[in-house]
Amino acid sequence: MIAPLTIIGSGMAGLGLLRQLRSLDAERPVTLITADDGDDYSKPLLSTGFAKGLPPERLAARDALAVADSMNALVRTHTRVEAIDTATRTLHLGKERLAYGELVLATGATPMAPFPVPEALAGRVMTVNNLGDYRAFHAALSRLGRPARVAIVGAGLVGCEFANDLLAGGHRVTLVAPETAPLPRLLPEPLGRALGEAFQEAGMALCLGRGVTGLGAEGSDAVIGLDDGESVVADLVLLATGLRPRTALAEAAGLEVSAAGIHTDRLLATSAPGVHALGDVACVDGVNAMYVQPLQAGAKALARTLAGTPAPVRYGPWPVLVKTPLLPVVSLPPASPPARWRIEGEAGDFSALAESEDGRLIGFALTGSCVRRKVELARAAPALLG
Ligand SMILES: Cc1cc2nc3c(=O)[nH]c(=O)nc-3n(C[C@H](O)[C@H](O)[C@H](O)COP(=O)(O)OP(=O)(O)OC[C@H]3O[C@@H](n4cnc5c(N)ncnc54)[C@H](O)[C@@H]3O)c2cc1C
Repeated sequence: MIAPLTIIGSGMAGLGLLRQLRSLDAERPVTLITADDGDDYSKPLLSTGFAKGLPPERLAARDALAVADSMNALVRTHTRVEAIDTATRTLHLGKERLAYGELVLATGATPMAPFPVPEALAGRVMTVNNLGDYRAFHAALSRLGRPARVAIVGAGLVGCEFANDLLAGGHRVTLVAPETAPLPRLLPEPLGRALGEAFQEAGMALCLGRGVTGLGAEGSDAVIGLDDGESVVADLVLLATGLRPRTALAEAAGLEVSAAGIHTDRLLATSAPGVHALGDVACVDGVNAMYVQPLQAGAKALARTLAGTPAPVRYGPWPVLVKTPLLPVVSLPPASPPARWRIEGEAGDFSALAESEDGRLIGFALTGSCVRRKVELARAAPALLG
């Protein structure tokens, strides 16, 4: 008899795996346990909802009941797994003990706050990494009843997408980051500057090249102190200062983990027998890619493995599409620093090719009208997990 499967996490990894598994095996007993409400939603839409005026309920494709029904699974919502006993294959849920046959950890990643948030700013300094956060942020904006002054700390993908989206939604946005140009991990500096200029031309304020020294409250305002002595005053602060894989559960259970995530091989198998990891929490053969495409490739491969045909995951070269309509961006960052960037273009339309010492293409970045080259260049670029 095939062992029952338990999945922890109902994000795109957990639900994506369940969907893939059901296309191969309609009968295997599956329990999905999630700390949140189990709504099936696409996380990338969270940073596109304000421009379209989308209320949170419009972002969820279906609720946990519909998920359970359509995918023949037992779904337990608002249930946190507190410990895993790999020797007895048992989960601890409060006082309850639940046996598992095989286990998949799809517990995602958690936002990092690089500085303390004073209690007086509770409800005014937020992160948006799931639909519940989006609900809370949406409600805080609605409560103001007017366009808000929003300061976004962090100019990576999440910070830039929210900055563009909130500005398009009519809010007054200030983007704060220590780097001198947006998207420092995805774009070489000249392309990052082009994005910054597009933001500024549309009315966004940029506070780049300056670190945050602390946060304070002045009446109903949040005040961000900067290391040049200046400050930014806002109604709401959105922290977009990076994510850390949620490894605590796995680490306490004795699984091999590092800051990059739960270590797995290409079959998504962890160091504990019968336990797999997938999505933002997994570091697969040394690579933690917190994006949808690798997560989907992982879900597809793991479903086949769990259905009886071991299938190592491959990622291929996957370009990241940054949702900044003010200046479209596509990037496939090189796995190691390039010998040189070959940059061509002007007025926001740039192609930047990352080359190795011997002239091979190892990554690229495109802005404006040049994003149409993404398919051609992705075909020529190396896979990250080929
Ligand atoms: C605003 C935003 C925009 C993005 N845009 C893009 C994009 O355009 N393209 C792209 O490729 N990627 C994008 N990403 C990244 C992408 O969305 C993520 O890589 C992906 O959604 C991660 O899914 P996940 O299932 O691994 O994790 P999560 O969505 O974090 O899900 C984790 C799940 O685990 C549950 N959980 C955690 N701990 C426990 C526990 N102890 N017990 C029970 N349940 C637990 C949680 O409740 C949750 O259900 C974006 C991310 C954000 C935040």
